[in-house]
Amino acid sequence: MNLQSLIKNTERPFVIAGPCSAESEAQVLAISESLSDFSALKMTRAGVWKPRTRPGSFEGKGEEALPWLAKSRAQTQLPFCVEVANVEQVEIALKYQADALWIGARTTVNPFLVQEIASSLEGVKIPILIKNPINPDLELWIGAIERFQKIGLDDLTAIHRGFSVYKHPIYRNVPMWEIPLALRERMPEIPLICDPSHITGKRDLVFDVAQTAMDLNFDGLMIETHNDPDNALSDAAQQIKPSDLKNLLSSLVMRTNTNLNAKEALNQIRVEINALDDLIFEHLKQRLLLSEKVGEIKKEHHITIFQQEHWTKLIAERLKMTSDYGLSQDFVRKVLDAIHQESIQHQLRIMNRK
Ligand code: PEP
Ligand code: MN
Repeated sequence: MNLQSLIKNTERPFVIAGPCSAESEAQVLAISESLSDFSALKMTRAGVWKPRTRPGSFEGKGEEALPWLAKSRAQTQLPFCVEVANVEQVEIALKYQADALWIGARTTVNPFLVQEIASSLEGVKIPILIKNPINPDLELWIGAIERFQKIGLDDLTAIHRGFSVYKHPIYRNVPMWEIPLALRERMPEIPLICDPSHITGKRDLVFDVAQTAMDLNFDGLMIETHNDPDNALSDAAQQIKPSDLKNLLSSLVMRTNTNLNAKEALNQIRVEINALDDLIFEHLKQRLLLSEKVGEIKKEHHITIFQQEHWTKLIAERLKMTSDYGLSQDFVRKVLDAIHQESIQHQLRIMNRK
């Protein structure tokens, strides 16, 4: 199978779906059964070795699960992909004739590991899907792709799954759309698939992110799908039922004009601007929550809300940086004043609470 040409010859979006983890033979087959009449679905996914953040969580069924995926392939007639994070896993996945391998975000960050995996695949003809690294580093993502190219593997596809930040109020992994778009500019031959499940971490947001990906002309979507999402052994909050996947796909608005005229180009930029505005306001909200905490301490210790010295210092430090921001002093000052006034209002409410 050549995945790149399959993606290019499929009407957008090229859809990969299936559970975060293969949990049992019955679960894998039940999901593939419910997905089997989806014409948009072109490949199934399931993790068998799970890179979990903390020990003690479900770490996947390992080799035992691969025959289930092979059975599901026989049932659906669809190729399957599986995550590999080391050479041993590559060998096992190949033994069960996985149709494609994906490199997870926690592996893409590690050039030693990526190199070992790439070298172990020398001479093997298999498509590789490469997720972005967990940190927002375009060069590291490109570097991982190049390591496979150097070995002679050229059927490569990139998956955008967002970037990790500490305590983001909305996303599990912030999309930072500018990074996958920059990847497309640098490597236009590499198809780009969005994984809204890992970006959002919450099933209610999956549609919006999938729609944005379509508006930005991504080639496809990888969406975690489970027959009983609430009881999934991994990533329960973000998985959706096969029936919800069907609704999601039929609700997507596809802008089919591939010849990017000015209007389309403007639309794309507006989607990016919108995403940035979301971030600005989410951050303002976080900032206000912190200033409310400050308000609580001031109330408890009888400190006045307005601390002139602190405020003067804060303004001066920020104004020193205006040329780095490419913004005028006047604008930065206005923004700071507006934020300050809002914080004072919030703190006043706290002080005067009975
Ligand atoms: C997954 O796809 O289930 C997974 C572990 O993804 P990521 O590497 O993007 O975290
Ligand atoms: Mn997952």
